[in-house]
Amino acid sequence: MKEFELDLSLLALLSETPGLPGREGLVADQIQQALPPNWVAETDQIGNLVCRCPDWAGYGPKVMLMAHMDEVGLIVRRVTQDGFLQVQRLGGMGLRSLPGARLDLWTSDGRRVPAQVGTLPQHLDHSNFLALEDMYIDIGTASRQEAEALGVQVGDGLTWASSFERIGSHQARGKAFDDRLGCFVLLALARRLAEAQITPTCDLHLAFVVQEETRLTGGLPAVRQYAPEIVIGIDGTLPFDTPDLAGKQNDVHLGGGPALKWLEAIRGKMACTVPDLRLAQTVRSTARQSGIPLQDEVITGIGTALNPVPYANQGVRIVGLSLPVRYHHSPVEMADLRDVSWMMMLLTDLLQQPL
Ligand SMILES: [Zn+2]
Repeated sequence: MKEFELDLSLLALLSETPGLPGREGLVADQIQQALPPNWVAETDQIGNLVCRCPDWAGYGPKVMLMAHMDEVGLIVRRVTQDGFLQVQRLGGMGLRSLPGARLDLWTSDGRRVPAQVGTLPQHLDHSNFLALEDMYIDIGTASRQEAEALGVQVGDGLTWASSFERIGSHQARGKAFDDRLGCFVLLALARRLAEAQITPTCDLHLAFVVQEETRLTGGLPAVRQYAPEIVIGIDGTLPFDTPDLAGKQNDVHLGGGPALKWLEAIRGKMACTVPDLRLAQTVRSTARQSGIPLQDEVITGIGTALNPVPYANQGVRIVGLSLPVRYHHSPVEMADLRDVSWMMMLLTDLLQQPL
């Protein structure tokens, strides 16, 4: 299957921009600047950004594609007398990746302070696992006063300090691929539709939502406000294709194409999200017709912004599409760029079907 050429400088920009839960403004700015010229964007009072092309108002059903802008991180809970920081997690920051990690601290006025997580020298390390309470952040200051002089205070956020890079033949690595890859796909789709002068069979809305990583917040207000009949979620998912995970849960892997979510459950079996059957079948038949590889996914232990959406209005038809991302919530998230390209192509073809 041929791939679509991706604007990797835009993807790098989206990945590297900080956007902690509740602090997604810079990401929203980058997205607005990357929209095709004839699109309009509106921001609601919690920061969700909804973009649409006014020419398509009233074209068939209202369809919202949804990706989340926020990323996992840490928040300062205490500045110690000797200038170290103690932190709490802001979303599911990967604890295994923390000791020795490079971080960026973002002060309330938006300045970057280089930071790192302290780690015990191997010579003195006789333990297996470190709890977050035992970790500390080192910003190179020797006192609380010195830290405060840099503008550091309780409530500041920290992100992975990790730059975007190509790796292997088809892959890339960086931070916040969950879900800036989704944001990127939506932008690439808008640009593709504009460049090729494709008119979808629906009134298309692209929703870039906030605070998914903390409590799946953003999606629901956006859906209530714009009242789409159909919502298609685009988010990262966990592939099971590394030596430690092969054979567990499912066969979703990097380079196998986007995945169609048949079931996702955060925990147990009562909080399952399942797709609208007709919509899921249309996704599958579109992929087959277009020759785009598509994987089938059933997964537990993960939730997305789509979870609360069916409660909105008179009910909403939903389907979730996943981009496999290895090492979720770490500084070295890894994805296959062919999957990203195929996701964009699948959506382009899907939006020309009757939905
Ligand atoms: Zn996500």
